[in-house]
Amino acid sequence: MKVVVLVGGVGGARFLLGVKAALGLPAIGEAESSEHEVTAVVNVGDDVWMHGLRVCPDLDTCMYTLGDGIDNAKGWGRVDETWSVKEELAAYGAEPSWFGLGDRDIATHLVRSRMLRAGYPLTAVTEALCDRWRPGVALLPVTDDRVETHVAIDDPESRESRAVHFQEWWVRYRAEPKAHAIVPVGADEAKPTPDVLAAIAQADVVLLAPSNPVVSIGTLLAVPGFRDALRETRAGVVGLSPIIGGKPLRGMADACLSAIGVETSAEAVGRHYGARGDGGVLDGWLVHSEDTADVPGVQVRSVPLLMSDVDATAAMAQAAFDLASEAAG
Ligand code: GDP
Ligand code: CA
Repeated sequence: MKVVVLVGGVGGARFLLGVKAALGLPAIGEAESSEHEVTAVVNVGDDVWMHGLRVCPDLDTCMYTLGDGIDNAKGWGRVDETWSVKEELAAYGAEPSWFGLGDRDIATHLVRSRMLRAGYPLTAVTEALCDRWRPGVALLPVTDDRVETHVAIDDPESRESRAVHFQEWWVRYRAEPKAHAIVPVGADEAKPTPDVLAAIAQADVVLLAPSNPVVSIGTLLAVPGFRDALRETRAGVVGLSPIIGGKPLRGMADACLSAIGVETSAEAVGRHYGARGDGGVLDGWLVHSEDTADVPGVQVRSVPLLMSDVDATAAMAQAAFDLASEAAG
């Protein structure tokens, strides 16, 4: 089976562990051989230049999680990390100081930045990094073009309105200043990569991980041509709700949903994605056991959606496969 999963960072990476397990693949690392193929299409809107280095938080979270290098307690960054470079930068007063780059992590960004400056596209750079990590899935940035999510806020100090990079809003300000708008800058001119389009065209099933609907999945869908690819694939397309009981699990996705005028509920997010037959992207929508949702044109099912461990997550993936084959057939 060829499975394509649309993902952001922490939620997406955890879900991928379950997708692999549901297919009988090792959750972490690579199988010696398998008839199944998993491709993750990864958000790049969080990517940012920091101290001259290109940082790709969602790609790295997926790569480290599936390659057994993640700090599981935090959910991002390297295990056994040290912070000497950060301390030295602080001693110079080098800004920004609010973004934590660990020493081990920096090696990844050095290799990536050097390759990008030598002219390699992000897809090739990611593949080269994955030679080390062997995540057991193809990690594909949705585009090799630069797309960065920016957020319009009132500056907490000056009160003047300004646009900040998503990372500044999310990490520095903890999404506290109200977002007046969230814009994937560059998306209009970006193209999905040929690898991404081929994976979607050849997929047997396409899943939307329970990732942030605005700044993870939303940024993928903002790349022109990507939505069309989803609409045209013969695969069933099924999404999993990141909203449970009217709240996001971990994180501040509600702040993003309010910014685009979508209520924080499984039903509202399902309607926001919309039916494939009606300009949207979904055939099926999985919501958590106690939740209900009416999404016109979309088959909705309630199953447990808590990614408490790999087995529970694998059961979610299996429920999504089942719904996809019913909805497509
Ligand atoms: P980020 O890029 O690191 O913010 O991660 P993602 O966008 O991939 O995932 C973040 C989303 O995952 C949040 O909006 C959460 O609501 C969702 N999430 C986290 N844990 C769970 C879980 O156990 N179940 C479900 N259904 N959603 C979850
Ligand atoms: Ca992210």
